[in-house]
Amino acid sequence: MKVLVVGGGGREHAIASALSQSGSTVFAVMKNHNPGIARLAQDYKLIKETEVEKVVEYARSRSVEMAVMGPESPLEVGLVDALEAAGVRCVGPTRMAARLETSKSFARSIMRKHQVPGNIEFASFSGLEEAKRYVMDHDQDLVVKPVGLTGGKGVKVMGEHLLTKADAIHYLEEIFDHRIGGGGVVLEERLVGEEFTLQVFCDGRNVVPMPLVQDHKRAYEGDVGPNTGGMGSYSQEDHLLPFVTSRERDTALGIVRRTVAAMEAEGCPYRGVLYGQFMNCRDGPRVIEFNARFGDPEAMNVLSILSSSFTEVCDGISGGSLSANKVAFQKKATVCKYVVPEGYGTEPAAGREIKVDEAAIADEGCRSYYAMVSEEGGKIVTSTSRAVGVVGIDDTIEAAERACERALTHVSGDAIFVRHDIGKPEVLRRRVQHMQQIRTI
Ligand code: AMP
Repeated sequence: MKVLVVGGGGREHAIASALSQSGSTVFAVMKNHNPGIARLAQDYKLIKETEVEKVVEYARSRSVEMAVMGPESPLEVGLVDALEAAGVRCVGPTRMAARLETSKSFARSIMRKHQVPGNIEFASFSGLEEAKRYVMDHDQDLVVKPVGLTGGKGVKVMGEHLLTKADAIHYLEEIFDHRIGGGGVVLEERLVGEEFTLQVFCDGRNVVPMPLVQDHKRAYEGDVGPNTGGMGSYSQEDHLLPFVTSRERDTALGIVRRTVAAMEAEGCPYRGVLYGQFMNCRDGPRVIEFNARFGDPEAMNVLSILSSSFTEVCDGISGGSLSANKVAFQKKATVCKYVVPEGYGTEPAAGREIKVDEAAIADEGCRSYYAMVSEEGGKIVTSTSRAVGVVGIDDTIEAAERACERALTHVSGDAIFVRHDIGKPEVLRRRVQHMQQIRTI
């Protein structure tokens, strides 16, 4: 089948790789010249993923039958709607269904309306003054979220990023003055617990879960520093996590199923990958947010161990015939660490050469996926964003972490940074202890 991959990051390299391995002929549109995707693709075009008309024209010109969406930005501008109108089936939601991600107030409101469990206290504001008043009137810590897309970097938590009410008010002013995330804000209760990600495949009605993953958003070791797009992630061989029981996973899956049913009831069926970010709290999992696509890096964890045909899975999603019997993952653990430019999260050092010995990484039984790098004159050059995702795969998280570190020795460059603590035993122990404390409060 001729399949178009939309996007040029690590997630999309993993998508293109899984499609190619399962017999698809891959085409790609991306804004950077991702060397991994370019190599896998029969043909590609360097354009912005949000240039809807150009993407549709390209898809038509290559007679692609199906398109798989990588990032969120094309969803928001209706690329799926336009491709479907042109007869291309899509793995990714329509603009209206993507509101689960593109509007944080929509996601919370739909959960409230349909009494989906796992929701939290929240209030949405389109005006600065009311938002300020809400902060002044509340004594407990709140989380400040611009209502629209911010590339995962707009959320600030009182007690962490915002130390006083004055800091929170200052941030509200910034959001409204600079129209961060489109202006408008959601203020919500601050949850305490351990975070995990549950991604599912969904064809509008049927929901099939993938292994749980834990992402690391903070830029520096020890979970400090600014929020980033994600520095790395890991998954466990039994597809749970060291601090999430199967019962808690089932609760989270139930929440996702109820949300998908709510979307169908609203006349807005959800097709694609749905990503639930959860906080495992004292009373069970609660929703932090939904994303309308694979996570990046989480896509690299799960697609690296998908043992069934990804092309068939995508066919099922886009054709409304997804079946759990056709989706299987290896019982392996994975640890993914992103190589990023030094200063990523604040002032990244862009435009430097990076060398990746892909064959040596494969010899270690690991995988590497190029992200926001570009190939220029035979050299691979970094941008201000993440450069290469390296995935270790083994029987336990500990062994996968060691494999990932071995593989990382085959990546070199003069201004690169990696969060080496991701997946290390002491970090996992801390998370398990934290969860035990929360359960006994
Ligand atoms: P988001 O972009 O919504 O995933 O938020 C980014 C990060 O902010 C999350 O990964 C959490 O660490 C944190 N966060 C978001 N919402 C909450 C909340 N209600 N309580 C505590 N932390 C949160």
